[in-house]
Parts: sequence; structure tokens; C-alpha cells
Amino acid sequence: LMEADHVKVYFKGKDKKSGTVKAVDDVSFQIMRGETFGVVGESGCGKSTLGRSLVRLLKPTGGHIYLDGTDIAGLKGKELKNMRKKAQIIFQDPSACLNPRRTVKQILMEPFEIHGLKGQMDVDARIEELMRLVGLDTYHLSRYPHELSGGQKQRIGIARALALEPDIIICDEAVSALDVSVQAQVLNLLQELKEKLGLTYFFISHNLNVVYQVSDRVGVMYLGKMVEIANYDQLYEKRYHPYTEALLSAIPQVGEGGVKRIHLEGEVPSPSNPPTGCRFHTRCPKVCDRCKTEIPELREVETGHYVACHLYDGSEKK
Ligand code: SF4
Ligand code: MG
Repeated sequence: LMEADHVKVYFKGKDKKSGTVKAVDDVSFQIMRGETFGVVGESGCGKSTLGRSLVRLLKPTGGHIYLDGTDIAGLKGKELKNMRKKAQIIFQDPSACLNPRRTVKQILMEPFEIHGLKGQMDVDARIEELMRLVGLDTYHLSRYPHELSGGQKQRIGIARALALEPDIIICDEAVSALDVSVQAQVLNLLQELKEKLGLTYFFISHNLNVVYQVSDRVGVMYLGKMVEIANYDQLYEKRYHPYTEALLSAIPQVGEGGVKRIHLEGEVPSPSNPPTGCRFHTRCPKVCDRCKTEIPELREVETGHYVACHLYDGSEKK
């Protein structure tokens, strides 16, 4: 359904000294129709920037993004607007993206207004259907966001994202601001909707447990790079990249059975001045000389399992 092909998102730094921030640097992957592709990584690794570029809230500075075969990376004007019907995004903080001065109904009306569909369909009926889909009673339609709970607000955010029947939804920390019990309800809802409506998700979270719960495939990001991509099962069996190993060792159900928790030393370096070679080399327990100068490519080490690390690039000199 979607393919990122050497996508780069660079920002100019705030001042001359800070240089270029390489928030997403040469990232490639595919998202299959009907799957949940989860992305994990620490804050600042570029996962939100990547998510925003996939729905073109940000324009990539390099590479291509194919949605259903069309390169959306450079779209403008009307074509960009049309593309947005197919790809929607849900954010972490529902309060921040719902206009406090508009009722739920007005909020849900927005997508139809923006796309000039108000005269063309029974929007009221569609809005009621959206409410049912996200499990909210229609009496909430006359309410304002502040009258709703966090979970209800996120359901409205989901309803709005569903309004124009998208193919793919980017969920950027969609449940991170919610209480754990509400989190589970919203995750269940997302799962139900996916099955009912044939949706595809790009599911971003810093929380590995959450990503593990929902994803069919998982991509691990570190400092603007995708360092490992694999099926859920493959990753459960074996993780190759030392960063993934450290990240996943922190999850109890995965860490049990002899996997020792690995603590990483040091801070994530700045994306405006990333380390040379492998960007993880300043913190990697398995670093060797080569890692400091050569950038490891993402390679397929088993069918469907991709890793960017010199330990697995098939060359003899390690
Ligand atoms: Fe560690 Fe080297 Fe692999 Fe990077 S390439 S993850 S530094 S072993
Ligand atoms: Mg983020």
C-alpha cells in the first residue's frame, strides 16, 4: 500500500551553528495493505517526523513516498488535498487537535467541508455512523471537547480520521496520553476498526509493549535511521541489531527466559551532529573500528528480516 524509498527529512537548524538536523535520513520500507506496521524508538529518533511525512504534513527533502503506486512526496495543491483523503493521522494529545470552540458535530463536519462533500452526501447520517463506529452515543454530538474524557476525545479524533474512508492511518503515540485501562480500550477499538474497515496502520510509539501488542511487523528507529525491520514473530524469536536487543530486553515477557536486561550507556546524540559511521556506535556494546567510519546498510538477513549492522553484513572482516 505504501512504500518509503530513501526518504529524507532534513531541517535547517535554529542558528548557523546547529547546522542541518537530519531527522529522517535515508529510510526505506514498505507497508502492506491490511497490516499494522509498528515503529519504535526513543523520543527524538525521527519516528513522528517520518509519520508526518507519510501523510505529507511535512514535505520530505529527499526520496519518494508511494501510496498505491503514486509518488506523493512532491504533490501540491489539489492532488495533495485528494491524497489526504487516503492517508490520515491521529495524534497523541486529542485535546490539542480538537477545536475547543466547536461541538463534536462541527468537528466531525470539518473533513466534509474541507473536501466540498457537504452537498454531495448525507453528512448527518455519515457523522452518526462515525459515532457508532467509534462506540460513542450520538448525544455527544452537541458537546464540546472539554466536556469529554480523554478516551472519548481520542475516539472523536479517530472518528474524524475515518470520515473520508482512508486506506491508511498513521497513529502517532495515539494512546500514550491515556490511562492504561483506557489505552487498552482504544487499542481494542483500533483493532476492531482495522478488521471491519480493512484499514492499514502505521503505528508509532515509544512504548514497546504497546507496539508489540498491536503490530504485525515492527521497525526500530535510532537517530533518523531504520535499524531493524521484521515480523512480530521473527523479532520475538531473534533480534539482530544491538539496539533492538537492548530495547526489547526491557520488556518483561520478552526478557524472561534468560534474556538479560541490557542497559545502554549514554544519551542519544543530537540529530544535528550524528556520529559518523553507524549512528549507534557511541552506545553500542559490540562496536568495532569499522562501525566508526562505515555506515551499515539495511540488509535482509533472513526472509523479511532486515538489519543495518556490520555484524550481519556478510563480510568476513568484522
Ligand atoms: Fe554496533 Fe557496529 Fe552494529 Fe552499529 S554497526 S550496531 S556500532 S556493531
Ligand atoms: Mg513523537
